[in-house]
Amino acid sequence: MPATDTVPAGDAATVAGGASGVWCDRCGETVAAGSHDGCAAARVLEPPRFCAHCRRRMKVQVLPVGWAAVCVEHGEIRG
Ligand SMILES: [Zn+2]
Ligand SMILES: [Zn+2]
Repeated sequence: MPATDTVPAGDAATVAGGASGVWCDRCGETVAAGSHDGCAAARVLEPPRFCAHCRRRMKVQVLPVGWAAVCVEHGEIRG
């Protein structure tokens, strides 16, 4: 039995509905494509730019206590 569970990279059009995000919420690239260390570091300080689930641009609001980012499809996340 093949034990590999490879995430297909490069095909931006098809995203299987599922668990956690497949897109980097900062740069919008697939998380399978290389390192996103810089993105992760930046995301500590900044709100996301893209929805990790559907890659839509998120509508970001800066709040007094952080931020709120809204995807029309997946709702709001806060940080
Ligand atoms: Zn990234
Ligand atoms: Zn979304």
